[in-house]
Formats: sequence, structure tokens, C-alpha cells
Amino acid sequence: MSARANAGGAGSVGGVGGVGGVGGVGGGSGSSSGVGSGAGVAASERLRQLAAAGASVSVDTNVPCRRYFRSGLEMVRMANVYLEEGNLENAYILYIKYMTLFIEKIRKHPEYASVPSEMKSMNQTKLKEIMPKAEKLKALLMEQYSKEFKKSLEEQKIKLKEAEERAKKQRKQEEQDERLAESLQADELRKFGNRDSDNSTTPLWTNVMPPNMQDVLYPDDFATEPNRAPPGHFDPTPPIISRQSKPKMPDTVPSAPYSGSLLGGGLRTIIVPSGLMDTFLKLSASNTKSNVETCGILAGKLERDQLLLTHMIVPKQTGTADSCTTKSEEEIFHYQDQHNLITLGWIHTHPTQTAFLSSVDLHTQCSYQLMMPEAIAIVCAPKYNETGYFGLTPHYGMSFIANCRQTGFHPHPNDPPLFKDVSHIKLDGQTKLEVIDLRR
Ligand SMILES: [Zn+2]
Ligand SMILES: [Zn+2]
Repeated sequence: MSARANAGGAGSVGGVGGVGGVGGVGGGSGSSSGVGSGAGVAASERLRQLAAAGASVSVDTNVPCRRYFRSGLEMVRMANVYLEEGNLENAYILYIKYMTLFIEKIRKHPEYASVPSEMKSMNQTKLKEIMPKAEKLKALLMEQYSKEFKKSLEEQKIKLKEAEERAKKQRKQEEQDERLAESLQADELRKFGNRDSDNSTTPLWTNVMPPNMQDVLYPDDFATEPNRAPPGHFDPTPPIISRQSKPKMPDTVPSAPYSGSLLGGGLRTIIVPSGLMDTFLKLSASNTKSNVETCGILAGKLERDQLLLTHMIVPKQTGTADSCTTKSEEEIFHYQDQHNLITLGWIHTHPTQTAFLSSVDLHTQCSYQLMMPEAIAIVCAPKYNETGYFGLTPHYGMSFIANCRQTGFHPHPNDPPLFKDVSHIKLDGQTKLEVIDLRR
């Protein structure tokens, strides 16, 4: 029913303020509404937005302090990949995150003093590496943004000029039409003379004009937006907002897709090798037969803004019918460090039950997702031939579980849902999977 895999030893984690996550995308920390982004925004403002996104990292004192140090290493791994691939923005955000975390926020963690000194000194070395890199990135981004801003201003100028030209042309046309109308009217008057008997107030010339010429629309102005009111027209009716588009509860609508920038929120896609589940079921078969859970760590790398699940690490462990506990985590970490791997989630079996996340599973998953918002929990239920790809709902589920102080199996309300099937995974037959079985 449940497994605790590599969750840092803590049965429960909590106290999450924003549910941003440390290593990945800041879940809710997009650019603040009302503030624009992109080329039309001044360079300094865009840099400020990146720095703010980076600085939004928060430390949950219920998560073991060492786990942040672990996560920090993975953060730097991802930042370095972004840098190599020329994604300066995402690299910069992650460096700022790392600096904010380790220069400032981690020191307030109650366990900070007990973090081994070699871990701290490794961290200091990384900081010394990163600070000048971040400075350089800042300068490069400033230059790039300034260029983009200048270009956007020039484009605006050109557009304005074109609009003026169009308006001028239109005025000219109107004047011509008016003159034409006047001369036609004069002609009419000459033909018929002053007819006092005619009481009509309608000018005679209106009859001569084509019926639709008086309210002609210029196609250039309105062709693409047929419903737009003419300039200067005030429509007091507020826009109709569909009530159905508003979520009743948090997390009932699918999260926004990843925008390509860590600034915009959204989850990056995890590419999952399609053979993973079969492989895992095979190596857990003997446990499953004796009704014992098996668990494994899922890890991989960042490549062109996608997370490739390339490794499954099966640690030394002990299991029961509804739980699984990893042993000697240092072994897992060592392997990950040797191979530059990023933690992407965990996998476990439910030997006799269906695929779902038990209360203990939810707490385990929370600790993964706090460090990496994309992290997933895969549950294999061979008896029902079922596989679940789960994550906590990013707002409600994360804050509920992070603030739940209970340990062991305990009831949680299940409405609104605390977890859901994730939509940011893609099964792929081409991605190669490496299995590291540390049980032997
Ligand atoms: Zn479970
Ligand atoms: Zn709980």
C-alpha cells in the first residue's frame, strides 16, 4: 500500500508556504500579474523578474536540512545544462535560487549546525563557482534584453507611423467622398431647382449614393476583428466570463503547460522509457509473490528542457505488504553524483492492492515534489494489471500534506483530491533505461 523511498527519513514534511519547489519550476511563482514580460519590457525589469523568481525559494524546516544540500547539487546540475544549451534565463534563475538558498535561507534551518562540515565546504566551493557565473549571465542577459527592448521600441515607432499614414489616407478619402457628394447634391439641385413643395428633410443626394456607402468599413481596420467596436465607441456591457471556466476548487483544472521558461510556471515533460514498468515488475517479482512491496528511485538528466528518465536505482530495502523502507541512502546519492543524475521520482509495487497513493505514499511524494515539482510516483499493481503515474495536486494537495503533522498510516480527507494522474509524462520506447540494483 505504501512505500517510503529515499524520502530523507522524515515521515512527514510540512510548513510549505509557497509550493514552489527547490530544484525545478516555481509552481506558483510566475511573473506577477499585470507586469508584462518579453521584449516590450525594459531590460532591468525583466532581470528583476528573473531574480524574483529565483529568490522565491523557501525552506521548509520539516524537511531534513541535508536534503536541501542534496537538492542544491541537482539544481546546479540542471543550471549547468541550461547554460551549455544556451538557455541563459533558466540557468540564471537556478543560480539565483541556489545562492538565495545557501547564502541566506538554509542558515535558518534548525538542523543547519548539524550538517556535516564536508557537505558545507563542498557547498561553499560550489557557491564560489556560481557567483561569478551568475554575474556574467546577468550582464549577458542585460545586453540581450536591452537589444530586444530597443528593437521593440523601434517596431512600435514603425507601427505608429504606419497607423498615422493609414489615418491620413482615410481622411483624404473622406474629404474626396464629401466633395463628390457635395457636387452631386449641387447637380441635383440644379436639375430640380428649389422645390418648396418637397418637405422631405432627407438630402436628395442620399438617394444617389450606393446604399451601403455611408457606413462603409475600411477592411484594413476591421477585417480581423469583426466584433470590435469602432474607435471611440464605448460599450458599457462588461465582457461575459464563462462561469464554467473558473475552477470550483483549486487544482481541478489542468495546470498550464510548460512555457519554456522557469519564469512562467508549468511543468517540464518527463520522458519515461516505456519498458520501465515491466523491468521493475520482473525485478520485484519474488517480493510480489511473498506479498512484499518493492521500491526504486527514478533519476535522469535534463536535455533540451525535457527531463529524461534514464536510471532506475533499486536501493537496499526492507518491505512489508504495505510499506517499503530504503536503507543506506548514501549509496544512492553516491551513484547519482557519479553519474550526474537528477532525482525525478520513485516507483513502488502494490502486491495485492490497486494503484493509488496511500497516506504514507502521499507524504513521501510530497518530499519529492517539494524538491522538484515535476517529481512523479509510479505505482505498479500487478494483481490488477494497473500502473498509476501520480503527483500531488500542486496547490491543494501539496499544501495539505506539507502541513499534515501525522506519521504512519492515517486518514486524509479525499475530497477535493490530494493527488491525481500526472499529465506531464510521455512514455517513450526509444529512451534507454539503466537499472542499478543495489540489493545484491
Ligand atoms: Zn503505496
Ligand atoms: Zn498526513
